[in-house]
Amino acid sequence: MAIGRRDLLKLGGAAVFASGASSAFAAAPAPSRRIIDVHMHAYPAATAFENPIVNPITGARSPIRNGAEHMEACIAEMKRWNVVKGVVSGGDGDRLKAATDWVDRDPTRFLAGAGVRGSDDTPLPPLDTLRKAFADGRIKVLGEVTSQYAGLTLGDAKYDPYLALAEAFDIPVALHTGSMPGGTTFDPCCRTARARLGNPEYVEEALNKHPKLRLNLMHAGWPYLQETISILMVYPNVNVDTGAMAWLLPRPAFHDILGQLVKAGFGKRVMFGSDHMFWPDAIGLSVQAIETAPFLTEEQKQDIFFNNAATFYKIAA
Ligand SMILES: [Zn+2]
Repeated sequence: MAIGRRDLLKLGGAAVFASGASSAFAAAPAPSRRIIDVHMHAYPAATAFENPIVNPITGARSPIRNGAEHMEACIAEMKRWNVVKGVVSGGDGDRLKAATDWVDRDPTRFLAGAGVRGSDDTPLPPLDTLRKAFADGRIKVLGEVTSQYAGLTLGDAKYDPYLALAEAFDIPVALHTGSMPGGTTFDPCCRTARARLGNPEYVEEALNKHPKLRLNLMHAGWPYLQETISILMVYPNVNVDTGAMAWLLPRPAFHDILGQLVKAGFGKRVMFGSDHMFWPDAIGLSVQAIETAPFLTEEQKQDIFFNNAATFYKIAA
């Protein structure tokens, strides 16, 4: 199966924020520090990939041919960069199984997230399925929740029982916020998706209805960065991640965003996430994007790469 735009959209990721070449992927030394990647995606083992997979930023080719090989390539890339933990959610097909397959492959490395949407195209899984998975510890995160692609906000009544369940089980929620790939609303999957629904301020009603929720604003709500900061100010139970923008945006643009968050005082609320999607090498590109940020201290890098996620996701150090 060729991977068309529709398949890319099904990731729920925010693929291709930026077009054009990104400059200066300066080599950074492989860090000795440990890293947690809070924004990873898995595909069913039998899903056929376009071959070769070509990285849209670097043009690098990967020989992986299917979901199973993609998983192995991602694990190899994680080992290379000392990414010791990953929060992974399914991006296609049986999304819950795609994620738990990665946990079965390497139980100490992965936490499974429930990738859910709530559209006609991709309906929410039965509540009982998630209740059992949370109770069993098979799934430890509710997310990536791609409500924006369904034309909804997290405050929609449809998500309420799921948020109540997450709150009851102390399961963190990871929500897609910010933007979507060009053309998303014209795709049959997502005709009700709207740009404005990526604004993080739409999470406020859900946060007040479920005050014990821990919420990760994936992609840090960019380009609604001021609104992200406004939510971070008011809600101490909210963090953000660097997914997709760390490697898809031109590096100066990403550094500007990261710098604004850190300079505003939220260096302990930003978590490293790659959102590598089909491209395992995007994990390393994302690591380098943080490593090369000239304004970060070593302590801030350690927080972003590991400590903040360990606290938020309650991962033992
Ligand atoms: Zn996303």
